[in-house]
Amino acid sequence: MSNRSSPPERRVRVAVLGATGAVGQSFIRLLANHPWFELSELVASERSAGRPYAEAARWIGADPMPERIATMMVQPLTPDRVTADVVFSALDSAAAGDAEPAFARAGKTVLTNAKNYRMDPDVPLVIAEVNPSHLDILAAQRKNRGWTGAIVANGNCASIVAALPLAPIHERFGISKVMAMTMQAVSGAGYPGVASLDILGNVIPYIKDEEPKIEEEIQKFLGRTNAGAVESAAFPVSAHANRVAVEHGHTVCMSVELKTKASASDVERALSEWRGADVAQKLPSAPERALLVATEPDRPQPRRQVDTGGGMTVVVGRVRPDPIFDVKLVAMGHNVIRGAAGASVLNAELMLQCGLLGDS
Ligand code: NAP
Repeated sequence: MSNRSSPPERRVRVAVLGATGAVGQSFIRLLANHPWFELSELVASERSAGRPYAEAARWIGADPMPERIATMMVQPLTPDRVTADVVFSALDSAAAGDAEPAFARAGKTVLTNAKNYRMDPDVPLVIAEVNPSHLDILAAQRKNRGWTGAIVANGNCASIVAALPLAPIHERFGISKVMAMTMQAVSGAGYPGVASLDILGNVIPYIKDEEPKIEEEIQKFLGRTNAGAVESAAFPVSAHANRVAVEHGHTVCMSVELKTKASASDVERALSEWRGADVAQKLPSAPERALLVATEPDRPQPRRQVDTGGGMTVVVGRVRPDPIFDVKLVAMGHNVIRGAAGASVLNAELMLQCGLLGDS
């Protein structure tokens, strides 16, 4: 993977598919004034297409909708209505299944948040600081599928929050098993999401299809590439997924068994020293630290820490001995930013930096 030393001479045109939803709106915030990317098209369903964005989208942030975006016309979901070669997808999975390959076939690089292609062995599932080398399989993907474009996936929001602290633990000590229990924010279900009468004052111990995603994706993030495909890490993961009455921020409590025995303070030190892959350090969306270890006994907390590092830092705390496994800890991160749009934008910056986007 080559590494460019300076930003592009002119900004690269990008489009957002699913621009009206919760993740789509987060993309708009992150891209409205991006130094490397210029938002050229917004795409959504037939319900929204042909209308100005301000009419089509119900803006859910406290901040005002960027002025230039408000008047942009929403486009239908067809590649010939999109001039950008780089496409961020925040599509519902029912639409992503057919649309994302159609865009890749039309020569677009699709950075997707949908679940459909994440576990395909020739689709890189990337966290910029954790496994940038998985992008090396893109050549094999293009060859296998006959595409001039490509699909690069983001993980599920809870998988990303869990995998970031597991990465340095696996790198330093080796992991032999993981138990992960999530408390996931309502914004993880999109907009309008979970009915208020179901979630207020409540915990729902079920999120459809979530547990297998968390179990498989952690293994894939921490796996390695071989002959144009990703081989997932072999350790087993058991996940429990719960929806809780929190607006933004997924919390994951984890117990981890190590291959090389280490104390909780050794593990805490490995987490605080870790900076992730060098190539991801200076990118415009990279936070100063991808992981921050909180030492207070009652942290991390979503209400107080979800915006750490602009929503791109995962806060880890309560690193302590586990009487059944070896060590246990709590991780918390912004599901819509680090767990979705922010992670995709960071992956696109990484690809541009490494000469993997268009003529970059
Ligand atoms: P959402 O709020 O329900 O938004 C869905 C978007 O998809 C809307 O823009 C919608 O457009 C568009 N869409 C739906 N059907 C379409 C069709 N047939 N053609 C074109 N566009 C269509 O969902 P979200 O929470 O933003 O999630 C988006 C994706 O990211 C999902 O695949 C989700 O699983 C994934 N994800 C979400 C999170 C999170 O924290 N929310 C985290 C990680 C990954 P209209 O407004 O026109 O209907």
